[in-house]
Amino acid sequence: MRFDICSIFPESFDSYFGASILKRAQASGKIEIRTWNIRDFARDKHGTTDDTPYGGGAGMLMKPEPLFECVDAVLAEGPSREETRVILFSAKGKLFTEKDAVRLTRYKRLILLCGRYEGVDERVAEHLADEEVSIGEYVLTGGELPAMVVTDAVARLLGGVLGNDESAQTESHTEEGVLECPQYTKPEEYRGYSVPKVLLSGHHAEIERWRKEHSKKSDMLLKG
Ligand code: SAM
Repeated sequence: MRFDICSIFPESFDSYFGASILKRAQASGKIEIRTWNIRDFARDKHGTTDDTPYGGGAGMLMKPEPLFECVDAVLAEGPSREETRVILFSAKGKLFTEKDAVRLTRYKRLILLCGRYEGVDERVAEHLADEEVSIGEYVLTGGELPAMVVTDAVARLLGGVLGNDESAQTESHTEEGVLECPQYTKPEEYRGYSVPKVLLSGHHAEIERWRKEHSKKSDMLLKG
């Protein structure tokens, strides 16, 4: 699967995508991540990508032309538009969940558009993006962290990206509203804190029962 990320700060991605699982997934050809500098599609020699909002108001907005033309250039490299999902990151978008990550694995390519400043000219949401996605009910300075979050959440679901594909099938949110049970590793006791005895018992049926009992419904967790 291919991820094309359009941003005015493409260098922000180097460190996260250059490490660990996503680095290995790129090296083995399981995923391809390309970053695009929206400034390369600006119309003037200064690389201007923002302008003042019509009707007045605080701050600057990202102009539509560089974003539309950047996406045209990405699409020209294939795969087809039908096999592609174009996502605009926005604090007012639909909240991203594990269910969305699973749904997005069906596409051959995601084009991820990162806003900055006060946001993006609305024509991008209306006529270029297939969906507007928020990663949480807070405001970030840009869409770069959301692009890393979505790329990571989708990529780890693809076959062969994690060392053990089973891990992605037995985690929090795999089943909607269900959270993973508590997990422990060695040592058996640390600073007087012990691992639950049942996990050391070797009794598989009891361990399974304990794990089921201790996996939580996320609504219970939210209520504390
Ligand atoms: N004025 C906008 C508003 O009130 O909704 C916030 C703009 S924010 C400072 C700049 C950019 O960061 C947005 O265009 C978007 O791409 C990204 N962004 C900020 N918060 C986000 C969130 N929670 N989820 C996804 N993207 C976000």
